[in-house]
Amino acid sequence: MPKLTVHVPHASLHIPEEAWSDFLVERSAVEREALASADLFTDQMAHDAWPDAKIIEAPVSRIVVDVERYDDDSREEMATVGRGALYTHDHRQNRIRKDLSAPRRAELLARYYAPHWARLSEAAAGATLIDLHTYPLEPWLIERHSDGPRPEIDIGFTADLTPAGWVRSLTRHFADAGYDVGLNTPYGGVIDATAKAAVMIEIRRDVVGRPGADPKWQRLIHVLRNMPLVR
Ligand SMILES: [Zn+2]
Repeated sequence: MPKLTVHVPHASLHIPEEAWSDFLVERSAVEREALASADLFTDQMAHDAWPDAKIIEAPVSRIVVDVERYDDDSREEMATVGRGALYTHDHRQNRIRKDLSAPRRAELLARYYAPHWARLSEAAAGATLIDLHTYPLEPWLIERHSDGPRPEIDIGFTADLTPAGWVRSLTRHFADAGYDVGLNTPYGGVIDATAKAAVMIEIRRDVVGRPGADPKWQRLIHVLRNMPLVR
């Protein structure tokens, strides 16, 4: 079996004590947004499906620092809606956080973003990488490409990071298990963490179920566990 690394960037609900003073709305509203934005249970999903993999989880909620975004706003299209690496807006486009000064921005990136990427790059080197996400059934206002199909399983890939044969075998695998599969829709591409091969798996939230005995969850874990891995 190839060395496998699973990246879980969006499961955390953790808002560190020092992050609270940057937010402009009450605590419960911040917590609600962390919950709504989270790819809930993808941490548990990774552990259940790939117990032997190296699993790299973001240390904080994505509304504190989103490790999946470019740290340079000029390269990050989501920065135009207040959802770059450092969010200022919620998923309904309401402002929730003040504009961060350059030093504060650098501090947060140094504390949560850079160490995460160091861990991810080390774990991804020479490995097969699965970047694991869930996404909402109904498009959010902030989405930049919300007109595309929203399949139950979206396989995100990039030509030079994801072998074409692997994309084909993954498509067949999920389709054979009865899932509706799409390629690079509504989200496309996969992060470049210098893995040998990488793919993004985006699971529509209505097919996730709840961790444990829930048949939806069991079905999903089974199909993920048996996913073909690139050789
Ligand atoms: Zn995500």
